[in-house]
Amino acid sequence: MKGYGMRCIGSPAWLEKDIPVCGPLDAIIQPTMVAVCSSDTHILHGGFGEHKDLILGHEAVGIVAEVGSMVRGFRPGDYVVVPCSTPDWLSPTIQSTPSNAHDRGLMQSFKFIGSKDGIFAERFHVNQADANLALLPDGVTPEQALMTVDMMSTGYHGVELAEIGFGDTVVVIGIGPVGLMALSGAAIRGAGRIIAVGTRKPCVEAAVYYGATDIISYKAGDIADQVLEMTKGGADKVIIAGGSAETFTQAVRMTREMGTVANVNFFDHSETLGFPAMLWGVGMANKDIRGGFCPGGARRIQKMLALIQAGRVDPARIISHKLHGFTKLPEAVELMDSKSPELIKPIVYFDDLA
Ligand code: NDP
Ligand code: ZN
Repeated sequence: MKGYGMRCIGSPAWLEKDIPVCGPLDAIIQPTMVAVCSSDTHILHGGFGEHKDLILGHEAVGIVAEVGSMVRGFRPGDYVVVPCSTPDWLSPTIQSTPSNAHDRGLMQSFKFIGSKDGIFAERFHVNQADANLALLPDGVTPEQALMTVDMMSTGYHGVELAEIGFGDTVVVIGIGPVGLMALSGAAIRGAGRIIAVGTRKPCVEAAVYYGATDIISYKAGDIADQVLEMTKGGADKVIIAGGSAETFTQAVRMTREMGTVANVNFFDHSETLGFPAMLWGVGMANKDIRGGFCPGGARRIQKMLALIQAGRVDPARIISHKLHGFTKLPEAVELMDSKSPELIKPIVYFDDLA
């Protein structure tokens, strides 16, 4: 079968691979619609270290092509939503900890592009199908479902880490697709003022749509100065979904005592995170600093889908580009890579695959 990915760091390519083998608990999926993520281009450029002959992609919905002998909940032909993180539920770690993102080590639950081929292929493999797949429910479009598998799940994880409460003043740093979803989650969780940080016009418009009360630009001066001035003392909760190590320091600075910094941003592995002791009240500020990777599994995605079914959020509003055809994958990856001013999230319909 064909897949689109990378020969090595910096070299995107079509790859020829065997159709994956289905274990007794697993499923093989034929993707019908996929999305490209900044994590795909991050890995392409070496952000996660050396990778060779790897099919990219980790955001898909599709049709079950094959199930293993022990799979009970799915049959060939079912239309399924595939979380980007598919934990090994037999791992003792995830049976005993609140996040399921690290089944057998750091981000090990992130198997597509993490430890095996991704979903930009004619077929892909899902481990432990009964625990890791969700049926597409009534009242949810495939496009909306596709936006739950990483963007909504990750953005909402930022909200969970921040423990946003009624009336909290929240800053969402970065309003790409992840930050936009975090923003919508903050609004659902009852935030008061929501200050969004970003510049690109479609992202700013979407931020207002999802509930931002204020927009600030990191190009117009230090964002910590801006937030401290606007809030007269700092925000209760700050979610980081964009920026660099300097942004992290700014986030700590703009968070008031007793507040929380919640990070879902990938920092480059070469960066150093740090801040002057005073920004943490010389250790006495009760300022929580948290960071986490997107949890996965069927139940989480069913909960995200339930929010859409109930009309609380429409994550498809972040889709800015729709491309038709498996052969359009290179164009979609290039779009994500070049981050044109109009881009929020590109998706590709595999409507030319039988
Ligand atoms: P985007 O690149 O689409 O968005 C980044 C946002 O950050 C943009 O709004 C951009 O502003 C803003 N930004 C850029 N530089 C700065 C800066 N110096 N200060 C403040 N804001 C800045 O990213 P995504 O939404 O796709 O992803 C966000 C992050 O989340 C990425 O690091 C991604 O790898 C990570 N991620 C994490 C996951 C997890 O599980 N933890 C899963 C998926 C993604 P502008 O409007 O000017 O472009
Ligand atoms: Zn992603």
